[in-house]
Amino acid sequence: MQRSNLDLERFAAVASHDLKEPLVTIGGFLALLKRRCEGDLDSEANRHIRFALESVERMERLIVDLLEYSRVGTHSRPFQVIDSSAILEITLKNLAGTLHSKGALVTHDPLPEIIADSTQIGQLFQNLVGNAVKFCRKETPRVHVSALRKGREHAFYVKDNGIGIAPECADEIFMAFRRLHDGDEFPGTGLGLATCARIVKRHCGRIWVESNPGEGSTFCFTIPVKGTESIRH
Ligand code: ADP
Repeated sequence: MQRSNLDLERFAAVASHDLKEPLVTIGGFLALLKRRCEGDLDSEANRHIRFALESVERMERLIVDLLEYSRVGTHSRPFQVIDSSAILEITLKNLAGTLHSKGALVTHDPLPEIIADSTQIGQLFQNLVGNAVKFCRKETPRVHVSALRKGREHAFYVKDNGIGIAPECADEIFMAFRRLHDGDEFPGTGLGLATCARIVKRHCGRIWVESNPGEGSTFCFTIPVKGTESIRH
């Protein structure tokens, strides 16, 4: 497992390095073309340049997300006792610009202390809350985060009032590059939930979604309650 994680990360690192270089060149020349020739070109040609520049940005985003996905197994921190409310608060500060621009309201109950990798739990909240706000057409996206102790697990719930998901698609969205919506209305790379699934798996938990189209979604994940003696990695 560790070896395949390392292989994946090496592959992603090399691929992203090799992809980044030509991409920077393409982006640079396109920007130059736009700056120097915008006035001489007709609107159609300028539109083509704009599309090409947008594709460069999408590709850059893809490379960053691919690296993040591949690093879950290798760039990890030791598990520690962490206050998940505090981690969520930090995440919400990171997302403040997005939340403000979408007019979103995010609330949460007191969340438990858990034994986990704090950076990865932050990534998890960031992806889930970010999606909850992104996949919403309402004037005020509302997100509520709560948690329940269920036997030997803490179950977390991220509930939104967004567009919802058809139950038959509930499993496939956790696969890499699987997207249900087109990139014009909802930009993205399709790697966020796959990264969440890898993070939860590393913590020996489960992740799933409960939803129906038009009725909002609740993303749920569990983190096992472990004795402090089992802190490892
Ligand atoms: P991305 O957000 O980059 O598209 P994700 O892996 O985060 O990729 O999500 C995969 C797909 O799952 C999204 O493209 C979208 O179709 C669906 N999805 C994720 N979160 C939500 C949500 N909160 N509400 C509705 N659909 C969602």
